[in-house]
Amino acid sequence: MGVVGAGILGLAVARRLVQRYPGARVTVLEKEDRPAAHQTGHNSGVAHAGLYYAPGSLKATLCRRGVGLLKDYCADRGLPYEECGKVVVARDARELAALDEIERRAAANGVPGLRRLTGGGLREIEPHAAGVAALHSPTTAIVDFPAVARAFADDVRDGGGDVRFGFEVVRLRRAGGRVVAASPREELVFDRLVVCAGLQSDRVARLAGDARGPAIVPFRGEYYRLVPARDELVRGLIYPVPDPRYPFLGVHFTRRVGGGVDIGPNAVLALAREGYRRRDVRPAELWETLRWPGSRRLARRHWRTGLKELYGSAVKRAFVAEARGFVPELAAADVVPAPAGVRAQAVDLDGSLVDDFRIGLLGPVVTVRNAPSPAATSSLAIAEHVVERLET
Ligand SMILES: Cc1cc2nc3c(=O)[nH]c(=O)nc-3n(C[C@H](O)[C@H](O)[C@H](O)COP(=O)(O)OP(=O)(O)OC[C@H]3O[C@@H](n4cnc5c(N)ncnc54)[C@H](O)[C@@H]3O)c2cc1C
Repeated sequence: MGVVGAGILGLAVARRLVQRYPGARVTVLEKEDRPAAHQTGHNSGVAHAGLYYAPGSLKATLCRRGVGLLKDYCADRGLPYEECGKVVVARDARELAALDEIERRAAANGVPGLRRLTGGGLREIEPHAAGVAALHSPTTAIVDFPAVARAFADDVRDGGGDVRFGFEVVRLRRAGGRVVAASPREELVFDRLVVCAGLQSDRVARLAGDARGPAIVPFRGEYYRLVPARDELVRGLIYPVPDPRYPFLGVHFTRRVGGGVDIGPNAVLALAREGYRRRDVRPAELWETLRWPGSRRLARRHWRTGLKELYGSAVKRAFVAEARGFVPELAAADVVPAPAGVRAQAVDLDGSLVDDFRIGLLGPVVTVRNAPSPAATSSLAIAEHVVERLET
């Protein structure tokens, strides 16, 4: 059995396969020279408790199961898992209805320990945050996802599997009931193949004969970091009430396991799928994004938000002003730029941002076509789900 991608999902799936089929040959194919080179190594590091997601959706069920499995796994392996807690802050009365809806969803999803706070209650938990009301999730945690991914890779090897770096899958073809995965130099044959290719997931799925859509539209998420002297502005995680039209959570304050506090990510269209810097442009990839009718429909519908995000990206003061909306003492001098990440967000033909995880089956191939946040949190549960699909 084969898995494309050594991000947290591909490795979690391979780990599940070696556990479920002892003695089977399981190989992970990764184009880079290390695990977690893309989204898994460039994210906020938050183990989400499952607040926002539509009850009954894959995101809701797999996040709730996944976060419990992840907590136990980190305890077992001695990996950091700090339940520093999170507040979602309504800045003014206009955001109360959206906060009510998050509270309703969180309760329906079975998020433990949730509490509604007044502005005063918020300040007891986060003394430098300001808002008219908030939700407190005490079990939301911070983790080191690259370390988790490396531990999964060790489990795969310990279970007799293999993780092959520098193997870029450039062609897939069927041979009888089997799948042949080819790099420019080598071919490997598998009974079953799982595609967890993150920012390239639509391309690799298409190599397997899957539909053109949904296409991946890459959104860069830029961060700033508090200068150490201002770390005391934030105790845990402080989030705004997100705009319900988008699957992104809004620029937030995130304490990191290794120390420090990040502010971000925003969501700016990236001009290259793996373009971590503003100047990274890949014309062929950009053209591919623009040619997808869904991208054009998305742009027509959301150009105002797109321009606002671009402005926040270009002008530090605008980015900081957004975050100051719920931590008023924040000043532009308190932050320095930090490394960005790129989200693989699937967009359907009609221009809608795919909200839920999307996992398809195509003969012997399972394709993970949309696995944005909270997929890292949910990885162990997604792995169970994918392996069940493989057995259908
Ligand atoms: C800015 C940002 C913040 C986020 N914050 C959080 C958070 O706080 N909590 C959370 O739960 N989630 C968060 N996420 C989401 C989370 O990081 C992703 O959902 C998760 O990492 C997806 O894992 P993956 O394995 O599918 O993708 P990836 O980690 O991107 O791995 C895909 C792998 O496939 C490889 N690959 C691609 N094409 C090929 C090919 N042709 N051949 C071989 N290999 C290939 C790539 O090199 C890559 O290593 C965030 C994401 C971003 C970008």
